[in-house]
Amino acid sequence: MTLGTMNHLCLTVKSLEQSEPFYDAILGFMGYQQVENNDIYIMWWLQDAGAIEITVANPDSPNKFHDRYSPGFHHLAFNADSREQVDNLYKLVQEMGATVLDPPAEYQYSPGYYAVFFADPDGLKLELVHMPVLPE
Ligand SMILES: [Zn+2]
Repeated sequence: MTLGTMNHLCLTVKSLEQSEPFYDAILGFMGYQQVENNDIYIMWWLQDAGAIEITVANPDSPNKFHDRYSPGFHHLAFNADSREQVDNLYKLVQEMGATVLDPPAEYQYSPGYYAVFFADPDGLKLELVHMPVLPE
């Protein structure tokens, strides 16, 4: 393992039943495999990328909805090898009836930055980006 690379990211969701098909499709598209599934959390794993987990929200929590403009999670971006992969995931998100936040386009974050933004069933913002030029 390389120091500082991500081992896992755990996201809290309202319902595992509601979110599992979404993450199975999205993460499956990227090559992740589901490696754990119990009443508390579900985990997907991709070699060299690490694990993504979803865990069920505490029903007693006073916060019932995610707000990415409050302190906490804003969004998570995954790497793509090509623009075609970004476009193909966009098609999948649409076929699933999931929420597209911003369709595939070139954004001015860095040269050639091409991304799609979408939301999970709880409104957590996700992104798939092809970034041909990496920061130095
Ligand atoms: Zn981003």
